[in-house]
Amino acid sequence: MFVSEDLQVNAQGHLTIGGQDTVELAKQYGTPLYVMDEDLIRKHCRSFKQSMDKFYQGKGLVCYASKAFSCKAIYRVMQEEGLGVDVVSGGELYTAMQTGFDSSKICFHGNNKTTEELQMALDYQVGRIIVDNIYELHQLEQMCQEQGKTARIMFRIKPGVDAHTHNFIRTGQIDSKFGLSLETGEAMEAVKEALQCKSLHLCGLHCHIGSQILDTNGFEAAAEVMMQFIATIQKELHITIEELNLGGGFGICYTEQDDPIPYEQYMEAVSKVIHRCSEEYGVPQPFILIEPGRSIVAPAGITLYTVGGKKVIPNIRTYVSIDGGMCDNPRYILYQSAYDAIVANKADQPKDTKVTIAGKCCESGDLIGENMPLQACEPGDIIAVCATGAYNYSMSSNYNRLQKPAVVFVKDGTSRVVVKRETLEDLVRNDCE
Ligand code: PLP
Repeated sequence: MFVSEDLQVNAQGHLTIGGQDTVELAKQYGTPLYVMDEDLIRKHCRSFKQSMDKFYQGKGLVCYASKAFSCKAIYRVMQEEGLGVDVVSGGELYTAMQTGFDSSKICFHGNNKTTEELQMALDYQVGRIIVDNIYELHQLEQMCQEQGKTARIMFRIKPGVDAHTHNFIRTGQIDSKFGLSLETGEAMEAVKEALQCKSLHLCGLHCHIGSQILDTNGFEAAAEVMMQFIATIQKELHITIEELNLGGGFGICYTEQDDPIPYEQYMEAVSKVIHRCSEEYGVPQPFILIEPGRSIVAPAGITLYTVGGKKVIPNIRTYVSIDGGMCDNPRYILYQSAYDAIVANKADQPKDTKVTIAGKCCESGDLIGENMPLQACEPGDIIAVCATGAYNYSMSSNYNRLQKPAVVFVKDGTSRVVVKRETLEDLVRNDCE
């Protein structure tokens, strides 16, 4: 009935998440409110980890892509579940390290890491720096030489695979700001240069072909291309690439139109390619890393809003306004992403109206969705937008000087705030007199 296994309806006809009444949560913590089910997040971590153990005999590491949702609480969960993390800025790295995260399990990404960020990576001794370009390679080598340090690096490669996804979130093709191209020879040149760098150890290669991918074809094709490149490197340069990071991108169910396959199937399909290529090309099976973000946290999250005014425009549409919008969920205005919504206090009623859910920002495009099926709703009702656990809080902003909502984790019948709601004072904290 709902897009996430986590959502149910209780005897009061209210929507529940992780068994907890969302209407009560809205009352207790206010709206807008991000609510995430910690148990479900942990379940996803375990299922990825189990697949890794099953299909790669434990010779791999699942790194949660923390750009999907980053705060101290989530790094603690990942550490407890034995996952590594992918960070993409000094800010994410700092947040992880504030929780005492094991830095050897951190992959540090970014197509334009600043000198300060590279310095942080060296100081924290992160396990793998994913080098995006030659300029970064030289900069890192120079920093290491000057400071008598060493670093383990991977190269981000563009495998040239079209994962049939939305342009804005497609990153594996040649015309991408991320990584080094195979077709132009740039990637091979970078590998040769890395071998000349005395302070850097090229431990592996990385690729990430896109996001919200709903079939295995692209992943299999990318794995094949990467294994071929590893074989070419072995043949031409006589070195073994020890690790292969295949990125994230596993799709989830946002609306009933999406039909994702179980993650174990992705893992199995890709592992078959890795094993076959390893035999066929005579290269040792590399240690495999993956970086799921959305698939771990998105289905575990919802956002609760209070309905304000309603505007019926005859023969055109009905707008229902909520107390949040593009500031807490910019994915509609960015990508026209589809969501499912439910009136949380009427969750047992049929969705017999179609409404456009409008945010409160001064932008006409500030919508959560257009002509969405929804229960008939009135001012004061609570709307739950589903599957907002990824790329919502982490992409939120203070546009119009709106305060960012709180994030609440539910677990074992209790709830706790993991990120406080911003106050008006927070908004002016950095303003100078
Ligand atoms: N790894 C890299 C390098 C990425 O750029 C991204 C997303 O942009 C991810 C992992 C996570 O992707 P997803 O959240 O779709 O799993």
